[in-house]
Amino acid sequence: MTERSAGATLVRGGTVITMDDARRVIPDGAVVIEGSRITAVGRRDEVTAPAGAAVLDARGRYVIPGLIQAHLHLCQTLFRNLADDLELLDWLKLRIWPFEAAHDAGSMRSAAELGIAELLRGGTTALLDMGTVGHYDVVFEAAERTGIRLTGGKAMMDLGDDVPRGLRESTRASVDESVALAQRWHGKADGRLRYAFCPRFALSCTDDLLREVGSLVAGANDGVMMHTHASENRTECRLVRERFGRENIHALHELGLVGDRAGLAHCVWVDESERALLAQTGAAVLHCPGSNLKLASGIAPIPELMEAGATVAIGADGAPCNNNLDAFGEMRLAALIQKPRLGPRAMPARTVLELATRGGAAALGLDAEIGSLEAGKRADLVVLDPGRIASFPGDEPYGRVVYSVSADQVEHVFVDGRPLLRDGRLLTLDEDEVMTRAGSDLARVLSRADTGT
Ligand SMILES: [Zn+2]
Repeated sequence: MTERSAGATLVRGGTVITMDDARRVIPDGAVVIEGSRITAVGRRDEVTAPAGAAVLDARGRYVIPGLIQAHLHLCQTLFRNLADDLELLDWLKLRIWPFEAAHDAGSMRSAAELGIAELLRGGTTALLDMGTVGHYDVVFEAAERTGIRLTGGKAMMDLGDDVPRGLRESTRASVDESVALAQRWHGKADGRLRYAFCPRFALSCTDDLLREVGSLVAGANDGVMMHTHASENRTECRLVRERFGRENIHALHELGLVGDRAGLAHCVWVDESERALLAQTGAAVLHCPGSNLKLASGIAPIPELMEAGATVAIGADGAPCNNNLDAFGEMRLAALIQKPRLGPRAMPARTVLELATRGGAAALGLDAEIGSLEAGKRADLVVLDPGRIASFPGDEPYGRVVYSVSADQVEHVFVDGRPLLRDGRLLTLDEDEVMTRAGSDLARVLSRADTGT
């Protein structure tokens, strides 16, 4: 499919939740899309669209910025429901790494398409992804074809005795392949596809690899990112401390990895000095409450991180540790899990929607382009129906979106002005075909996977 931008569209009526600097919420509003960009946002009677613009009637609906999930593993979507009730290091060693090692290009395509179909259906328009070690071209191809906005990269793993043969790579090969992927894909599709170097976590990478990634990212001036996991689990933190003689975030910082183009998933176990360092450096904390609960990792101190001034975004992590890729579910959890500890006013609904829109955009370094509905920004937007029975009645839009709307209430999705979901139907993917192919690809992967059972 060729890259094309749609003609003009007027999204008319409905409540526009702009998430702009003033946090305007416009009842009976309108949004004009021309090509890949938003050209006007305002009250319906103030906004004019070019002659001949298509009209999308949004009366009774909410119009929100496309949701952004800043930590996902599309490659794991095929392994949903196959790794339940384990803690992180067992989950990786007994299930996820053997499964990932058994991937081939065809199964990667199925995993990516299954994940992208779920994301678009649920109003997620942009993601930060971490792949497995191989086949990452396939993920970019799937994003290019389906129209979602993807920043991602192959996982880098050059250390660890428990890593299966199919994943363990040499430092040189890991860096060379990552650089080649970045050269092939970063900035493609009018900037919709971008590269992130993805050292998996400190324990699966040598000092040499981590240092080299730090200098590659620091030396780049094209927005390429670094994306890793950090301080998710107490055993992981202890092993990092034993190896480096300091806390995880400090160790990563000394290796040159913690800066304003870094995204660090989880940060559950970070002390006050690590929180301050994350804030000072401008690194983004990628909060995954569902995964943190399911893997029994803990509750990330997000209010404390925000108080310190850190950038925070949210994500569902991988399907096998969640088990959905649902931004609405993740927003709800992000709000709820802090309240028993800090009281009901901790993490109010508006703050949580900020994490899933503006926070995600900032984490991706795309805050000038996405994250709010404003003239000049990319036309990544979602129209949802808040009037269905489970979220009816009520007129407090932030609370309604965060606490009661679910992914199946999303009706229309645009990315770069291109409609990807219309009336709840995917336009760039055939769901039945994706699921049929995923089933047969999974059988092939499982027949190869050495899980020791
Ligand atoms: Zn992850």
